[in-house]
Amino acid sequence: MILKLQNAILEMIAKGEPLAATLDKICLTVETAIPGVTASILSFDGKHLYHLAGPSLPPDYVSGIDRLEAGPLAGSCGTAAFSGEAVVVQDIETDPRWSDFKALAVPLGFKACWSCPIKSGERVVGTFAFYYREPRRPSAMEQKVVDACVHLCSIAIEREDRVTERLRLTYRDALTGLPNRARFEKFLAEELLPGRPWGILLVDIDNLKLVNDTFGHGAGDALIKIVADRISGATSGNAFRLGGDEFAAIASGGDIDLGRLANDIILSLSSPSNCDGHVVFPSATIGGALAPSGANPDQIRKHADLALYHAKEHGRGQYMQHYAGLGTALTRRFRAVRDVSVALAEDRIDAHYQPIVRLDTKQVVGFEALCRMTSTSGDIIAATHFHEATKDAHVAGELTRLMLWRVASDIRAWLDAGLPVQHVGINLAAADFRGGHLRDRLCQIFEDTDVPLKHIILEVTESVYLGQRDHVVADEIGALRSEGLLVALDDFGTGYASLTHLLTVPVDIIKIDKSFIDRMVPGDAGIFIVEGLIGIARNLGVRVVAEGIEHEVQVDQLKTLGCMLGQGYLFSKAVDRTAAADILARYGQRPQERKLNVGVG
Ligand code: GH3
Ligand code: MG
Repeated sequence: MILKLQNAILEMIAKGEPLAATLDKICLTVETAIPGVTASILSFDGKHLYHLAGPSLPPDYVSGIDRLEAGPLAGSCGTAAFSGEAVVVQDIETDPRWSDFKALAVPLGFKACWSCPIKSGERVVGTFAFYYREPRRPSAMEQKVVDACVHLCSIAIEREDRVTERLRLTYRDALTGLPNRARFEKFLAEELLPGRPWGILLVDIDNLKLVNDTFGHGAGDALIKIVADRISGATSGNAFRLGGDEFAAIASGGDIDLGRLANDIILSLSSPSNCDGHVVFPSATIGGALAPSGANPDQIRKHADLALYHAKEHGRGQYMQHYAGLGTALTRRFRAVRDVSVALAEDRIDAHYQPIVRLDTKQVVGFEALCRMTSTSGDIIAATHFHEATKDAHVAGELTRLMLWRVASDIRAWLDAGLPVQHVGINLAAADFRGGHLRDRLCQIFEDTDVPLKHIILEVTESVYLGQRDHVVADEIGALRSEGLLVALDDFGTGYASLTHLLTVPVDIIKIDKSFIDRMVPGDAGIFIVEGLIGIARNLGVRVVAEGIEHEVQVDQLKTLGCMLGQGYLFSKAVDRTAAADILARYGQRPQERKLNVGVG
């Protein structure tokens, strides 16, 4: 019988059958072989005993002894677990070790109980017991059977522990102790409750590379751990570390508010922390996506990823939630970035020049330099494509470098040819300010080409200012102006904070956006807005250029309002350098005429 039992149980263990089924099988087999005994198997965690198997024990009895605390007088099993020795209680009725429990056992007809500890090495991990229906001791034959059973139980329990430990390691991140990416995948694949709304937050630590580079990898690791703890705290333990410095949280339930949860996380991160002896102010950027019913988890995860990407671009330390259309906008951007990168590599991008004209004399006082890309089929591609692409820091940097070189070389050539070139405006993107060293890069190029800085106007849009919460842009602009460069605020009026910026970031020129010039028609308030802008600019000592002039009547209106400079199709579209040189030769304002430029530059 023992041999048969051994074979059957070892086979179950080898096949990975559930522990409970394996142990039940042991109990049932011995109960059949030895009439009159009831078998019971409990597990032991060092303090308490828990029911593992005992298919013939009544459920009330099982629940009565579950979570029994081991001790010197804790029945047969509790005492065996406590002492690590077998305990034979021949008469439950009278034995002091059963005095607290006999009320449970006696009504069921149990008269004696013999329990043996199950060990893994020296550690007691459970107990194996026989209940008898008469007061008695175990026989020699029973001793043999139980020895075999205890051995089988210990193999089965050890295997179960190993499996549990392996699962724990598979699903846990070693550095932070959080559930890892594999656990996250499993949760999404198997554990979302059908019909219940849910959402994902993806959290990425800001500037971790900087912490690694400045304070060392140990500080970076410490920061990851601190952030992990705080995210876990803010999400009631629902956080995962996906790898590197990226974490995820899953929220589910009737009234989920991802925005609030994200803000809780951002808030919980904000206090300074000690990372390996250095004080660091942790910050993270979060992207989130809500799942409509029936949504595919992979899709929602992609949405959250897109939102995170977008949030990082907009400014770190913030939350952004996915919305319909975000993917299309980003795809368009990726396409533009790719097109412009290829065009840069194939030298298909060049500077074109749109004249800026004195409205009264129609003389050309300068140009705005505009990027033009020639497509592979020979078409000229317009600026909006570039605008999308310049949100990528690398492309923006390359484009600006190219434009600065082309413009500087052209100005040098025009000056050498004796042409009356005064200013050329160059557009800068937000990314140009983020890269650092803008002033040095700029000055170097103009020094190398021997072009005085007074010929350059840097054009920046409001969004360039708005994108930055710190003073990077304002400081950089101040520094550039102190080098003698002029700065123009481009597309003025299209953002909501224009006037504030005029007051806080000094500029030399404002360029009123075409949308206002278009609205200078009878019955539209546009004309009053333009009048107001010109008045404010005059009081601040800032020059004004009207953009997008298309009709002679607009010229008359602008002159009446006191705006003396403009650009637009009425005068000329952007043209290549040869045509620009021709325009300068024919319409360029000569130095002796510039004394007329009272207040217009
Ligand atoms: P961003 O603000 O754009 O998120 O920049 P970042 O510096 O945090 O860089 P990013 O998220 O793009 O990349 C994460 C970096 O974190 C890459 C790697 O240098 C660092 N990193 C990844 N895993 C670990 C880690 O386990 N320990 C440490 N110390 N650094 C890590
Ligand atoms: Mg990061």
